[in-house]
Amino acid sequence: MADRKYIFVIGGVMSGVGKGIASASIGLILQARGLKVTAVKIDPYINVDAGTMNPTEHGEVYVTSDGDETDQDIGNYERFLNIDIYRDNYMTTGRVYRSVIERERNLEYGGKCVEVVPHIPLEVIGRIKGAAEKADADVTIVEVGGTVGEYQNILFLEAARMMKLNNTDDVISILVSYLPVPSKIGEMKTKPTQTAAKMLNSAGIQPDFILCRADQPIDDPRKEKIAMFCNVHKEEIISAPDADIVYDIPLNFEKENLSEKILKKLHLEITPLDLSPWQSLIEKIKNTSGSIKIGIIGKYFETGDFILSDAYISVIESLKYAAWHNGLKPEIHWLNSDIYDGHGEKLEELKNYNCLVVPGGFGSRGVEGKIAAIKYARENKIPFLGLCYGMQLASLEFARHVCGLNEAHTTEINQETTNPIIHIMPEQAEKLAKKQYGNTMRLGNYPCVLKPGSLAAKLYDKLEVNERHRHRYEFNNDYRDMMEEAGFIVSGTSPDNQLVEIIELSENIHPFFVATQFHPEFKSRPLDPHPLFLGLIKAGLNRLRA
Ligand code: GLN
Repeated sequence: MADRKYIFVIGGVMSGVGKGIASASIGLILQARGLKVTAVKIDPYINVDAGTMNPTEHGEVYVTSDGDETDQDIGNYERFLNIDIYRDNYMTTGRVYRSVIERERNLEYGGKCVEVVPHIPLEVIGRIKGAAEKADADVTIVEVGGTVGEYQNILFLEAARMMKLNNTDDVISILVSYLPVPSKIGEMKTKPTQTAAKMLNSAGIQPDFILCRADQPIDDPRKEKIAMFCNVHKEEIISAPDADIVYDIPLNFEKENLSEKILKKLHLEITPLDLSPWQSLIEKIKNTSGSIKIGIIGKYFETGDFILSDAYISVIESLKYAAWHNGLKPEIHWLNSDIYDGHGEKLEELKNYNCLVVPGGFGSRGVEGKIAAIKYARENKIPFLGLCYGMQLASLEFARHVCGLNEAHTTEINQETTNPIIHIMPEQAEKLAKKQYGNTMRLGNYPCVLKPGSLAAKLYDKLEVNERHRHRYEFNNDYRDMMEEAGFIVSGTSPDNQLVEIIELSENIHPFFVATQFHPEFKSRPLDPHPLFLGLIKAGLNRLRA
């Protein structure tokens, strides 16, 4: 077998330069050359995983099928590459140090003095190679979080340098840089990129390619300048202009023949390129007929003066895929749930939407507003999809307003409620009592059995599915019979029938009211949209037509 190849993707100039999408896109164009590709994300945080980070600050916590709480970039890799990525493909500084320390405690270094260098980079290299091995990947993309020049990711760059030294033909580095066009100067400036390349050089790494992110394509004179000052050939400077649709980026890279150039650098055979499924997707996206108005009722939107939708990226992407596959342009609106709390009149605006989503969440802020919005969606027959917390709150809403249990609550918020419709799973209560918060929820893939004849079964077109979870609380079975008698349908459960996984209302009384304890958004793919999202958008389209 040929040697495994590795591509380090490193960011320069500023954060948010798009390394994640660039890494996923590079993976995709190599996959389109017939190679088996996987991707690894390195986060420079001390946090052992992303599970304990506030979504407003860090963005979405993406859950893998094996239950790791990771960075949203893992989601980008899964969506672009259409593969499952596992725990081994994600590491943080905390995770790396923790295993080195554990190993030292177990005397696995044979009495040696264990040092930051080389033991930390060696651990990083071991993990990268382990992930490549496990995925049996021809090429492994390794995205190094952070920006070159900062203190935090230096040991990861050291790992890249050491790997290159030992396998010169098998390892390359790509610098993703940013070229500003200051409005008062009106010219694209290359100096920050030159500085970033120099800083990368001082970490012992010579970039093989420089991807030039900018709001417009980079021209020839500037390519020549960067080539000269950064010690790369002109054809290794790749234009990466802003794209309206991220799924266009792999195609943009191919306009500069990036995959062929990478194959050459890695001493791989030049195989034919087939990007046709992506080309058809882009055709579909560009040729929609009409748009659909979707409201997401959440609370992790605002940071200071800015609105960031990163916390819900998988939900947003899943909605887009479903809309595109129905020939529609998605028009997504962020609705802050706080505004509906105690302001019944504001709810009226919800009737302007073709469909509504209440995504996952934690804690008390915004909950009453979400419940009010769900009530509005139920009573006004607006297609509704609830995800995780959205399912728990839809259950509370039904218990309160249909079954008359005014006190109905989740014990996450009110432990004294006389009607704990949603309560904590016993093993979760133990963990919370011991303050074990990290990586202790019910996480990752679990099977779910569907009720024959239900809307869920119809949409999935099968009776058993596997979906990803991330929660501590669950539906309280003491209330199941009573609520079902009132028209609440439990259409999906764990195979032992103990955990409620999907609820819905009969199609006779509501066109689409479905909510899941799991997160279907983690399994939706651009070329293969999730059936529940497709169902929601179809129902939204019917409402639009009506
Ligand atoms: N807070 C709820 C729970 O822990 C829902 C979690 C979520 O929406 N991901 O059960």
